[in-house]
Order: sequence, then structure tokens, then C-alpha cells
Amino acid sequence: MDDPATVRREQIRRLQGMLEPVLRENAFYRAKLGRAGVRAPADVSSMEDYRQLPMTTKSELTQDQARNPPFGTFTTYPPERYIQEHHTSGTTGQTLRWLDTAESWAWLAKCWARVFRAVGVTAADRIFFPFSFGPYLGTWSGVAGARRVGSLILPAGGLSSLERVRAILEHRPTVLVCTPTYAFRLAEVAEDAGLDLAGSALRVNVHPGEPGAGIPSTRARLQEAFGAQVFDHAGSTEVGAWGFECEARDGLHLHEGEFIFEVLDPDTGAAAAEGELVITNLGRAGMPVIRYRTGDWGRLHPRPCACGSAFRRLDGGVRGRLDQRLTVQGVTFFPSVVENVIRRRREVREFAVDVRRRGNRDDIELRLELGSGDADRILSRVAADLREALGVRFDVRAVPVGTLPRFPVKARRFTDHQPPSAATSSRECPR
Ligand SMILES: [Zn+2]
Repeated sequence: MDDPATVRREQIRRLQGMLEPVLRENAFYRAKLGRAGVRAPADVSSMEDYRQLPMTTKSELTQDQARNPPFGTFTTYPPERYIQEHHTSGTTGQTLRWLDTAESWAWLAKCWARVFRAVGVTAADRIFFPFSFGPYLGTWSGVAGARRVGSLILPAGGLSSLERVRAILEHRPTVLVCTPTYAFRLAEVAEDAGLDLAGSALRVNVHPGEPGAGIPSTRARLQEAFGAQVFDHAGSTEVGAWGFECEARDGLHLHEGEFIFEVLDPDTGAAAAEGELVITNLGRAGMPVIRYRTGDWGRLHPRPCACGSAFRRLDGGVRGRLDQRLTVQGVTFFPSVVENVIRRRREVREFAVDVRRRGNRDDIELRLELGSGDADRILSRVAADLREALGVRFDVRAVPVGTLPRFPVKARRFTDHQPPSAATSSRECPR
């Protein structure tokens, strides 16, 4: 495996190769990088040069597409070069349209194949995709990655959750790919129907789309429900499949062979051990992102991985999105910290958190659906655990099973009814 210096050198070489067509043909980046004095690939010949490049934000891209419909000015090639269009889910504002060429599509598949191979998936595996093939990149590129590995693909769109559980038991897939939220839904449906998913042939679960598989207690719950090893994965429509876990399962590897990563303090832009992930993808010259502010928050693992890879890792995966951070009773935290505490209790089937502010008082209410057990004891234990983990007083109460919303893809369990102003002083919770 390459050493870190070789990885950096190779990243710069790949970046220069991509900048060649981009600086010539991509109006958006030619102007943006030109304003920073970059006119030729040779102007970015080291990591120091790279770190001087201007960052790209999602709002810049959405504004550019709005002004120049339908694709904006950040395409590099004429329209006939592109073979597939996707768009973002719009969870954080406007949707973005994204185009891929045959070359970038092959690259996306290669990145996903890395995700599978890193967890020991081979051509002998049968991979179950329990979702419909909508306009989002992740579903299609995941299948393209599976095809590259040579595994048998089992598409399971257009089925109910119960039909999917039955298909897992009958068709005996060995690998499941879906969001952690949907995996919990499948587990719940199976339990209600008296079907045993833990006794299925599944041996590997790969969970993209949101923090979950990187949250220790959430991972433990999923492993128990499916009788499979659970792995984290991260990617996005704009960037591609950038994160993978290895069999050491001790953090999310940054795929530094195909992307350049920085972890930066979002306020100062300085390099930090913990902060916002800023990414450049190196295999998507037709519609690239260069120093893209992802809004994802992570902490660099301080040690190299037992697997021997030179690629750095995020300890605990993506902790959350910057715009999903909550500040309550003077403490700032990500929803994943709360989830980690709640999922320690296997009696909890679903939960929802609501923050309300009355004058100087912040109230945070946690509603729990409890499948079994002594409700009063569980409620007081969860409240005490949250107080200990965060220093925040939660009002915890039980609600009947089946009354909280279930989410088909990504969960929205946290609602801040009136976010505090940015000026509110806060302290970070211990993690
Ligand atoms: Zn590793």
C-alpha cells in the first residue's frame, strides 16, 4: 500500500490531468479558478497550491443552474458526451441536476466497487437493493459497482416492505444495501410478521445515505436484527461514493485514491482535526466539484488503520450535517449523539425529538415508542443517560407503538421548531 506522500503526489497528478479539459472548456471553473490566478494545470503543482484554490459551495452551483438552465455553466463537454442525468434529493434546499459521461460513469462504478470489495464482497455474493430506481445517483451507481464486482444483483423496487422481507428469506441474498433508516423499517416489519431476518443468508449490510452504521449502538442494533456484519458508507450526487469501511470496522476510510479531502474549521477555513469535509473528485471531469464544501462533519482518526491502508479515516463516520446541528440549553450537538444513547435500549422501536424555545428556556422533548419492558424504568434511564452524555435535560415520554412517523429513505426525527440565532453562544458537547 502506498505511503501518504505518494498518495498526495498521485492526487496532484490526477488533479492536473482533470484541470486540463476543465480550464479549457468548463466556463464556471475557468472563471472561478482564473480569478484565483490559476490558468494552467501546472499552476497547481503541490498540496500548498491546492489549498489556495477557492472553495465551491452548493448555493453557488444551484444559483448558476438557476441562471443558466438546465445544467448551469459547470459542464465541461458538449451535451452529446453525457449519458445519464441525476439530481440531488433537495434535503438542504434546491435540487441540483448532475450529468455523467461514459468515463465518469465507469469511475463512479469503480468507486462503489471499492466499497463492496473493502468489505469482502465478491462475484459469489448476491446483492439485494430494496428500493425503487428514482432520480438519485446512489441507487444507480451502487448497482453499477455491484456489476463491476460481478455479484448477482437482486433489484427489489416496487415491492412493499413485507414483500422485500419475504424476498430476502426466499432468494437468499448475502448482501443488503440501504439506508440505516430503511433497514430498521425492514427489521420492524419482519418482527411484526414473525419472520426471522437474523436467520437469513445476509452476511454483509452496507448502509449509505445518513449517519447510522457509524453510530456504535445503531450498528449493534442492526447487526442483531440482521445477523450480518454492518458497514458504513458515504457519498453524494455531487461528489460520488467517497467513503468506505474496511473489515477492521474502525472508522470510515476516505477514498484518497480518487478524491482529495480536507477537514476544515467551517468558520475560519483552517485545517482541523474535526470539522467540515471539503472534497474534490478526481474522475469526473465532465462535471467536477473542486474543493466542494459538503456540509458533512467528521473527525479524523488519529491513528493508521489495522488494515494497512494509507487512506485516512473518519472516526465514527460522518457525525452529521452542519445544518442539522442543534443548540439546546447552551449545548451544541449532532442528532447522532442522541441516537447513540437511545439505541442502547433495544426496547426502543422508534423515536422523535422536538426542540421548542420559550423566552430564555429551551425545552427538548423525546418521544419513544417502546416495544416491551418496564416503560417508567426505561424512560428514566434514557433521560439519565442523555443528561450524562450531553448535559441536557430531556423531557422523555412514551407514545403508543406505530404513532411516530416512519421514513422510507432518510429519517427526519429531529425538529427544531425555532432555531436559535447564529449569535447564540454555545459550548460543544463532549463526544
Ligand atoms: Zn482500514
